[in-house]
Amino acid sequence: MAVTTSCTTCPYCGVGCGVIASVSEHKLIAVEGDPEHPANHGRLCVKGSTLVDTQGLESRLLHPVVDGDEVDWDTALAEVAGRFQRVIEQHGPDSVAFYLSGQLLTEDYYVANKLMKGFIGSANVDTNSRLCMASAVAAHKRAFGEDIVCCDYHDLDVADLIVLVGSNAAWAHPVAYQRMVSSVESRGAEIIVIDPRVTSTCDIAELHLQIKPGSDTELFNGLLSYLIQNSLCDLEFIDSSTEHSSASFAAAEITVAEVAEATGVDSQLIARFYEKFGKTAKTVTVFSQGINQSVAGTDNANAIINCHLATGRIGVVGAGPFSITGQPNAMGGREVGGMANQLAAHMDFQPEHVATVETFWSAPNMATAPGAKAVELFEKMADGKIKAIWIMATNPAVSLPDTQLVKKALAQCDFVVVSETVKQTDTSVFADVLLPAAGWAEKDGTVTNSERCISRQRKLVAAPGMARPDWAIIVGVARAMGFQTGFSYGSVAEVFQEHAALSGYQNAGSRLFDISHLKDLSESDYDQLQPFYWPLSSKPFANRQFPTSSGKARFVPVIPGPVAQKTNMEYPFVLNTGRLRDQWHTMSRTGTTAKLFAHQSHPLLEINPVDAQGIGITSNKLVRVTSQQGGLTVRTKLTENVQAGHLFMPIHWNDQYSSVGSVGQLFSRAVDPISGQPELKHGAVNLALVTPELWVRLFTLDKLSEPLLQQFEYWSVTPSRCGGWEYECTLSKASAGSMIEQLDRLYSHCQTSDYTDLMSASQRRFAVRERQLMYALSVGPVLAEVSEVVLPDQIIDGELDWRALAGAVNDGPSSPLVCTCFEVSELAIVSALAAGCDSLDQLGAQLKCGTNCGSCIPELNQMLKKKALKTNLTISG
Ligand code: SF4
Repeated sequence: MAVTTSCTTCPYCGVGCGVIASVSEHKLIAVEGDPEHPANHGRLCVKGSTLVDTQGLESRLLHPVVDGDEVDWDTALAEVAGRFQRVIEQHGPDSVAFYLSGQLLTEDYYVANKLMKGFIGSANVDTNSRLCMASAVAAHKRAFGEDIVCCDYHDLDVADLIVLVGSNAAWAHPVAYQRMVSSVESRGAEIIVIDPRVTSTCDIAELHLQIKPGSDTELFNGLLSYLIQNSLCDLEFIDSSTEHSSASFAAAEITVAEVAEATGVDSQLIARFYEKFGKTAKTVTVFSQGINQSVAGTDNANAIINCHLATGRIGVVGAGPFSITGQPNAMGGREVGGMANQLAAHMDFQPEHVATVETFWSAPNMATAPGAKAVELFEKMADGKIKAIWIMATNPAVSLPDTQLVKKALAQCDFVVVSETVKQTDTSVFADVLLPAAGWAEKDGTVTNSERCISRQRKLVAAPGMARPDWAIIVGVARAMGFQTGFSYGSVAEVFQEHAALSGYQNAGSRLFDISHLKDLSESDYDQLQPFYWPLSSKPFANRQFPTSSGKARFVPVIPGPVAQKTNMEYPFVLNTGRLRDQWHTMSRTGTTAKLFAHQSHPLLEINPVDAQGIGITSNKLVRVTSQQGGLTVRTKLTENVQAGHLFMPIHWNDQYSSVGSVGQLFSRAVDPISGQPELKHGAVNLALVTPELWVRLFTLDKLSEPLLQQFEYWSVTPSRCGGWEYECTLSKASAGSMIEQLDRLYSHCQTSDYTDLMSASQRRFAVRERQLMYALSVGPVLAEVSEVVLPDQIIDGELDWRALAGAVNDGPSSPLVCTCFEVSELAIVSALAAGCDSLDQLGAQLKCGTNCGSCIPELNQMLKKKALKTNLTISG
C-alpha cells in the first residue's frame, strides 16, 4: 500500500501548527506534528491529533442545492449571480452582503473581498473574525498606525514573565500553551493569569488575578500609574518613539486601592503583579477574547499596549503585547482586508488607499466607505435594508449575540446563499442556495497564524461529490456576473501572486505587510512554499519606527467605562462564555467525532456551589437561564472555578445538537463602539430550577427526526463511541406513551424487551432487529447513567452484535474522558491516584494519560494537587 506524505497546516486554532499528513489510496490515514514547522516543532493538541477522525462524509454537503433541489454547478452559479444582480439593480450595491470566516484560506478571502469591494461596489463584507479579534485590530491601528502583531511564539520561549489576560490558552491555544509550560519548566519563567475564572491555564500560574469581568482597563491603567510613580518607564523610548504620553498618563491615574475596589482582587495581589511586571524586562502580555469581547475591547487592548510602550518593551525579543487569534486564518483575513472597515493589503478607506486598490484591481465599482460590521449587518438585514447575503464557512445563527434577531433576519432575507462543507447547520436551514465547499484536506491555499507566519495548506485528497474550493466558487459567481476580466485566474497560485503583488503596490515601506517578493512565484514554487514570517527584514518595530504619519507609536488615553449588560435584581448573575478543550466553534467540524465529545458530552452551565445552594440546585439539575434577550434550559455543573455570582457556558452547542441551542441567544447586541466587537463575556441572567417529570436516556442507531425530538422538553445528543447516537432528554408523563410509540414506529419489526429497574424506578426497553440494537431506553425520575441503559446479561443472548455497542458503554459508571488520546476517564485516574499514583510520570506509566498531545496535563495536575491537598489535610487533621 503506497503512502504519500505532505506538509500542511492544522485548520483549527490560530496557533497554526504544521502537520505531516499521510495519504494512502486517496484517503487520509494519519497525521502527526511537523517537527520542522516553527509554530509547533512537532507538537499537536487533541484536536489536531484527531484530524483523521473528522474527515468522514456522513454529514457532507455534496451537491449544489437551489430551492431544495440538487442542481449542477452552472445552474447554481447562474442562480447566485442572477439573483444578486437583480437585487443590486433594484436596490443598489449596499443591499447585498458577504459574511466570511477565519476558516477560509487567504486566497478565498482575497477574491471574495475583491468581488464585493471592487466589482459589486459595496464594503458590506464582514467576517466572524469580528467576534474574535476586531478589538485587537482596532487597538493596533490606534497605537501603531497599522494592524501589527508585535510578537511571535519564540518570544514565549525566551520571556521571563508571561501575563495571560482573558485567555484560557491551555484549552484554546494548547500548543502555544505547551511552549509556555516549557519556558516555566526549563528556564523558570513566571506566568501570571488574569481571568475571572479558574481555568486549566492557571495550572502553571505563579499568580492568578480573578478580576471582575469588565475591569481590565482599571487594572492596566493602574499598572501604567505604578510604572510612572516608581520610575520604571523607559523615558528615552517614550520621548523618541511615542506620542500622546502625557494625556494617557493623566487618564491612567488610579491608586492600587482603587484598582482593588474596581477589580475585586486583593490589593496585595495586584501590587505583586505590578512589581513583577515592573522589574521584568522580558515580559510578554498575551491577550485574546477575554480582552476583545467587550464594549471596551479596543480600550482594553490599548491599556495593555500603553504599558508596553511606557517600558519600551516592544520590538524586542522576549517582550511585547501579543494578541493571539482564535481562528486558523483570522490573520490572513486581516491581510486581505476581510473586514467591512478595511481594504486589502492593510489599507483603509482613506482616499489614497481607495485609489491604490481601485487602480491595482482596475475595479469598475470601487467601494469608497466602510460597510456594515457583523452585528450591524444582520440588523440591517432584519430591517430589510440588506436583501441578499452570501455566508461562507461560518454559522452566524449560532455565533453572534441575539441569535433570535439573526434567525429572524435570515428568515425574512430575500436571498440567502450558504457555502458549506456540511449539509445542515443552524444557518444553512435558511439558505435558498447551498454551495458544497471543499474541506480542509481537499483544497490548496495559504493561512497566516497568530504570529504572522504564512504556511501552505495543501490538498491531500480529492474533494467528494461536486464540492469545490471556495475561491473557485467565488470566481465562478464573479464570472457569471460578467466580471471575467478581474477574475480570470487559472489556479489558486495565481490568486496568491496577485495578493502578494498588491501588498507591495505603491507601498514603498509605508505598510509593514509587504510580501511582494512572492508576486512572481511559479506554480511549483507555490507548491513547495515553506512557512515564512512577515515582515521579512526584522521583528516589527525593532528599528523603533512605527507606520504612523509621524513614525512614532501612539499612547491612547483610556477612560474606564461600565459594561453594557449590567446585572440587577431581575438578572443578578454574570454570564461568561468560552471554549472547551476538545470542541471547535459551532461543532460543524468536531461534532461528528465521538472521541471529541468524551471530555464533555453535553452542554453544561457552570455555577458556584454557594449560588447553587442558594437556589436549591445540585449538579446535573436542569435550570432555566433567562436574560432580557431570551432563555434556555440546560443542565448544571457545580464548580468553584467560577466565582459566586458568576456562571459559565461553552459557545459550541446549537440547534443541531441540543434543544439548549446557542448561548448567544442570551446576549444583547451591545458592541465596542470602535471595533464593533460584541460583549460576549458579560451577560446578565437569572436562574430558576426546572424539575422535569421524567428523564430519558436513549441510544438510537439513527439520529432522531425533528417530530420525535419535539416530544421532549429538553434534549441533547452526542455521537456514540460505538456508532449510533446517545441522547439525554426530559419529557412530561403525558408525552411518554407517544414518544415510545414513535420510536416503535421508527424501528418496527424489532424484538423488544422491557423491564423495571426497581432501584431507580426506571422503565427500561431494548429493541433489537436482526441481531442489531436499534434503540435502548431508560425513562424515570432520574437521569440514568449511560452504563445503566444496556441490557442485563440474562435477557438477551450474549452473542448478539449489539453487545459491541453495549460493551463499550458498560464498563462502569459513565465518566468524562480526561485523556482523549488514550481514552482514560476521570474515574480511572481517580482510582489510580487512590491506589498510590503520586505524579504525572506515574499516571503516564500506568494509564498512558498525558503522554501524547499533552492537552490533558493541566487537568491531571489539578487532580494531583487535589490529592496532595487532601493528604495534607488528613495528616494535619
Ligand atoms: Fe491545531 Fe491544536 Fe495546533 Fe491549534 S494547537 S493549530 S488546534 S494542533
